[in-house]
Amino acid sequence: MTSPTTPSAPATPTVPALTLNNGVTIPQLGFGVFQVPDDETTEAVASALEAGYRSIDTAAIYGNEVGTGRAIAESGIARDDLFVTTKLWNADQGYDSTLRAFDDSLEKLGLDTVDLYLIHWPTPAKDLYLDTWRAFERLYAEGRTRAIGVSNFEPEHLQRILDLGGTVPAVNQVEAHPALQQRAVQAFGAEHGILTEAWSPLAQGAVLGDPTITDIATRLGATPAQVILRWHLDAGRIVIPKSVTPTRIRENLASVDVQLTVEDRAAIDALDADGRTGPHPADFN
Ligand code: NDP
Repeated sequence: MTSPTTPSAPATPTVPALTLNNGVTIPQLGFGVFQVPDDETTEAVASALEAGYRSIDTAAIYGNEVGTGRAIAESGIARDDLFVTTKLWNADQGYDSTLRAFDDSLEKLGLDTVDLYLIHWPTPAKDLYLDTWRAFERLYAEGRTRAIGVSNFEPEHLQRILDLGGTVPAVNQVEAHPALQQRAVQAFGAEHGILTEAWSPLAQGAVLGDPTITDIATRLGATPAQVILRWHLDAGRIVIPKSVTPTRIRENLASVDVQLTVEDRAAIDALDADGRTGPHPADFN
């Protein structure tokens, strides 16, 4: 029992959950591991799990599914309490190659199932994402992934999947931050029951010095990163900020306790500037 004189540890922030179109729930804030070398990933993911994150976003191409899986295994956290996302790389698109790539990802992660499997990019010039999606539907039907979705899909790519008349993607993970707000993509998703998940939610740090954001942060006694993450959450997006720095890992999670005003949200909404940092999905093959 804690004695009255012992300072209590700060409470773990409570991350809201969103419900996917198949009834599965996903923590609205998770942890991304892009550009973290495999041998550093175990420590970073362990740090995130200890801070209270329960959702981890990796991908075959990140080369750190092994490190991610090791942190999960060593955490002692029940598998049912975790939400694990991985992604199919472009070179593996196609029906049979998708099935093989999925087996490989599971083996690297050391898991029997993932919670969400995403097509990483549509790569329209290859024109294989419909075949790939059929393989995703098989993996979903077999219960090997609890949900299936896509990443970097424009409305025209999503429409072709919808036209198959099968499973509607649960999630579309796209670049989104104050300088690239993706309103059309998110609106299309909302119309069809597809949740939008923001990658590079902090624009890899590029928007943290914006005076609109630093002014709000100063007024609220929060950090710029927390203000941006809270703005995403208020807009109904899932966010997966990445950091290898334990203080920032905790800081980002604590964004769930920040409260923005309607005016704060409007001021950040006004920063939309077509400021894409990654490739355009139409041209990335
Ligand atoms: P983020 O927008 O999450 O930014 C990460 C960068 O910001 C790192 O340099 C990190 O530094 C720094 N940072 C993090 N928190 C803070 C903070 N509180 N204060 C100051 N700086 C901070 O970029 P990512 O591109 O990593 O995107 C997040 C995740 O999205 C990825 O890890 C990946 O899981 C996913 N993603 C998906 C893509 C896709 O095509 N589907 C493409 C790109 C990303 P440090 O680590 O040194 O602390």
